[in-house]
Amino acid sequence: MLKRFVAMMLLTLAAGCSANQATPDAASGRGTDQVSEGGEKPAHHGDGVFRNLYLPDDYQPSTLAFLQARFFGDQNWPEAPQDHKAFWQATDPQRLNPPPALPQATLIGHSTVLLQYQGVNILTDPMFSDRASPVGFAGPKRYTQPSLALTDLPDIDVVVISHNHYDHLDAATVNALGDQVLWLVPLGLKSWFVQFNVDNVIELDWWQSHTVKGVEIQALPSQHWSKRTLFDTNKSLWASWGFKWSDFTAWFGGDTGYNPVQFKEIGEALGQVDLAMIPIGAYEPRWFMKYHHVNPADAVEIFRDINARSAFGIHWNTFVLTAENIDEPPQALADALRLQQINPQRFQAINIGATWQPASSLQ
Ligand SMILES: [Zn+2]
Repeated sequence: MLKRFVAMMLLTLAAGCSANQATPDAASGRGTDQVSEGGEKPAHHGDGVFRNLYLPDDYQPSTLAFLQARFFGDQNWPEAPQDHKAFWQATDPQRLNPPPALPQATLIGHSTVLLQYQGVNILTDPMFSDRASPVGFAGPKRYTQPSLALTDLPDIDVVVISHNHYDHLDAATVNALGDQVLWLVPLGLKSWFVQFNVDNVIELDWWQSHTVKGVEIQALPSQHWSKRTLFDTNKSLWASWGFKWSDFTAWFGGDTGYNPVQFKEIGEALGQVDLAMIPIGAYEPRWFMKYHHVNPADAVEIFRDINARSAFGIHWNTFVLTAENIDEPPQALADALRLQQINPQRFQAINIGATWQPASSLQ
């Protein structure tokens, strides 16, 4: 039992996203939060750490209670299947040469998306390794493969990172892409890259942007947290990302919980969002996960708040990080859309490996 408990402790650290910080975040803060009440710094800048702005005052997550429920409770987590092929298809690299007239986004796996338009290739949270873990022999193991190999990607111009959890920031992938690409990362994360001699990195705070080949790429809020080691909780920021071409706007949600403020602000800041990429997996049990991981019903709230024209789900069907069944998110998404009377064509749980194009013409 002890051995299992220790292994699972490691797994929890490795997964990152399935654990929570032990200290409550500040519930105060203002709107777009660019300047705090005192005027010195943004409200999400705490004392040596970053913080969320819209958690309840009495928010007191207990990692111990979570671990007890996880390993000694009644709820059985799904076993990771081997080389799962449901909701999965290989991506034909030929398809990644889109005509300039059409934007497209290919879900490669988990939160890794290749977003392409007008000759600009943007990659989100690239994760091509077998495990989301600090070690190769333990930790969450992927049960669906990336829909194509890293070496089959077209030349990437820019990579955005949502935060430093192992299922979103993968050292092997960072080393493989290296300085050939520009990395846009949330505040406090550049030093992690520099240890691998990767220097082509720009840190952005929420609401700051950087333009690459005419595309304005903006770091935007999310409600999450960060942790890479035992001692760095919330020392680097987490973010979602906006991408503005002259006639096409996309938003990548990264990893986030829901609050009724920040996604409306994002929608207002971006204007018309043509495509939103919103997490739909890794959400049970809700008592522990809900402030940092949306479920499909929350994802639909985000879709409404940012006023997206179209969306697809990310952050599912790759790693077992949480307690829901692996095939539950698409059904839960369909149920949530029906409840809100939203055309299910507008927000789909597309296959891993599928390519989104405008007007829902999936290939
Ligand atoms: Zn995370």
